[in-house]
Amino acid sequence: MNLHRAASVVSSVINSRDLRLHAPIVLLGDSRCSVVRDGVVDIGYDGRIRYAGPVPTAPVWDGEVRRVTGILLPGLINTHAHSAMTALRGRGGDLPLIDWLQQAMWPAEALMTPEDARAGMLLGSIEMLRGGVTTSSEMYFAIDEHAEAVLETGGRAILAEVIFELPGGEDWGAAVERVNKRIDYLGLRTGPDERIEFGYGPHSAYMLPPHALGVIAGHARDRKALVHMHVAESPGEDVEQRSRFGSVPRLLQETGLLDARLVAAHAVHLSDADIDLFAASGTGVAHCPASNAKLASGILRLKALRKAGVPVGLGTDGPASNDRLDLLDEARTAALLARVSTSDARTVSAADALLLATRYGAEALGRNDIGALEVGRWADIVHIGVDTPAFATGLDVDDEELLGNLIWSAGSRTVRDVWVAGDRVVADGGSVRTDRQRAQAQVAASAARLRVPPGPAGP
Ligand SMILES: [Zn+2]
Repeated sequence: MNLHRAASVVSSVINSRDLRLHAPIVLLGDSRCSVVRDGVVDIGYDGRIRYAGPVPTAPVWDGEVRRVTGILLPGLINTHAHSAMTALRGRGGDLPLIDWLQQAMWPAEALMTPEDARAGMLLGSIEMLRGGVTTSSEMYFAIDEHAEAVLETGGRAILAEVIFELPGGEDWGAAVERVNKRIDYLGLRTGPDERIEFGYGPHSAYMLPPHALGVIAGHARDRKALVHMHVAESPGEDVEQRSRFGSVPRLLQETGLLDARLVAAHAVHLSDADIDLFAASGTGVAHCPASNAKLASGILRLKALRKAGVPVGLGTDGPASNDRLDLLDEARTAALLARVSTSDARTVSAADALLLATRYGAEALGRNDIGALEVGRWADIVHIGVDTPAFATGLDVDDEELLGNLIWSAGSRTVRDVWVAGDRVVADGGSVRTDRQRAQAQVAASAARLRVPPGPAGP
């Protein structure tokens, strides 16, 4: 991996540390979703937060002070994505899950090169940062190229190499061994400000034999690495796996994966007993409401999961199955679906929705160094501009109304600036380090190559 080349790109543009941001509103992302009026966030030279809170209790500050209008909040966390699929966006958009995979995605992905994945991840990372997503949890191949792309934009990612078994394809053990070596040689977290973490990405219970899950569980536990897996996504998968193993969570328990640091993506079809298994093991869930709705997979039982104490974050899934990489949009959709599926408008508040996108996302990934504006965490910060109709009634409204305007109305188009580990990576809505138009042109070239050739013409 050419991590050093990418790291030098990042370190050459570090420019904004030892910085105090002073804003009319600071959302701390603590468990009460506190709204601080006239607050500051102090960023140390090490890229971590030294203080976040109201001005009267702030320490003396000798560094630069930058005043911003609007709202500061923690960087958003996308707990489940395949962002490199930007080159496949729009394909098979009206197909159900299995047909979509078999007819639209897998044939195109078979043609995909590591450079295509790099171009796709670069554009995906730009898109996410512009929408306030500072960390994404990815599952895909070409992990080295993913790391280079993320370090180029200045984002943060957990990169899980996808592991599966297909007839005539690579043995799953080879992918596991690559992940082992990557972590053992480069470290679990690496790059400037630990922007890159590596993990294991067993695709699903239906793409791997059970003993493979056991092997992966052992390696991941030894390395304290994240295991990122699709779980109980579609009704068809649920019926088949229940008949074979009791349920996917039961299989995960039997193979030892529940004892690892596991994030279960989708987790739509869970019984009460399955939820209890997740709660008892601290398994995280990546809730992908828009993808699940678009592919007609179902609605996750958010109320039941949260009541049981399962850490639930939000994911976009890939940009070919959503088709946005927009976590504020997911927060809104998650709240809407939870309310309508329980006939209860109190199921998820605007404050809850914001925490799903930040603090709880970090919890679902087993990370306590991101997801909130708290002393010692990385200074991953989003600035929301309020010169927009969504905030026309001003900021001097009560907390519930303010958070409501952010979640229900504002949307990611109001993101103005983004810092990762105290480095500004988005300024006035645009990527600081990368040329978006050039990245789009690269994806356009990849997309043209990834058109599946038509079958041989019959007489
Ligand atoms: Zn997925």
